[in-house]
Amino acid sequence: MPPILEVRDLHVHYYTLRGVVRAVDGVSFTLEPGEVLGVAGESGCGKSTLAWALLRLVPPPGRIAKGEIIIDGEDIVGMSEDEVRSRIRWQKISMIFQGAMNALNPVYRVWEQIAEPLIVHRGMTKEQAYNRVIEVLEMVGLGEDVAQRYPHELSGGQKQRVVIAMALALDPPILIADEPTTALDTIIQAQILNLLKDLKHKLGMSIIFISHDLSVIAELADKIAVMYAGKIVEYGPSEQIYNNPQHPYTRALLRAIPRLHGPKEKLAYIPGQPPDLRRPPPGCRFAPRCPQAMPVCHEHEPPYFEVGDNHYAMCWLHRGKSERRTLA
Ligand code: SF4
Ligand code: MG
Repeated sequence: MPPILEVRDLHVHYYTLRGVVRAVDGVSFTLEPGEVLGVAGESGCGKSTLAWALLRLVPPPGRIAKGEIIIDGEDIVGMSEDEVRSRIRWQKISMIFQGAMNALNPVYRVWEQIAEPLIVHRGMTKEQAYNRVIEVLEMVGLGEDVAQRYPHELSGGQKQRVVIAMALALDPPILIADEPTTALDTIIQAQILNLLKDLKHKLGMSIIFISHDLSVIAELADKIAVMYAGKIVEYGPSEQIYNNPQHPYTRALLRAIPRLHGPKEKLAYIPGQPPDLRRPPPGCRFAPRCPQAMPVCHEHEPPYFEVGDNHYAMCWLHRGKSERRTLA
């Protein structure tokens, strides 16, 4: 089967008065049907901008500057906004926005919020839309009673399930979840992760799961892309990235989070700041913070080195292994 999503050499820039911010700078990856891709990295690394770009919703002054986003065989980068709105967004690819559970409209009942796109996009009657709403609420583990409630009558976990139900309403094959568990306590976080696992298995959805927390991502993802300063710096099977990371940044990221399983280590933090994306350093972008940096790192950007099966690291430590310029 061809991939459901192919991203090739994507560049997203913010054109600010103080210069061009290269928020996403040459990102490539593929997503297969039914696959979960985890995207990890510190805040500001370009994860959310990448997600917005995939829905063609980059906020101004941002813009997709270059690259291809091929969804189900069609490049949506050059498509008119009308076409994206009528055929692609929410229908082929939908998204749970970071913090969306706190942005539910307080004056509408749950069912009315979920029904709106069904009436607008699918031309359903109110009654047809109501029936579909009950169906998607059930998919996310909520009963019909919730349909009649207002957002303030729901718990945090219920609100997040409603947000997920909204993203599922039009039955899109691809779902992006941007930090969907971040604001939730541990028990609810586990429940939402299980729900996403269920959607993958029962509906065969392809999911892009974005989080700053690699241990949460590893619970769900088949493969992981680690982003740093607008680039994917390591890409590979989830289990390999988590247990056998090959990029110093991924290792630092893993040391900076509590491990769910295994020995308790002292939590480290990553010293220094990510670079200014208006003027990134010439060589490896992690070099100013990297404990293993060598002279070459400050001068030349590394290519992707093949460090394992379908496992790539953008790092000079692997010099000599087979290399490629891009991941697609
Ligand atoms: Fe560190 Fe050099 Fe690898 Fe960059 S290329 S991560 S500076 S060792
Ligand atoms: Mg973000």
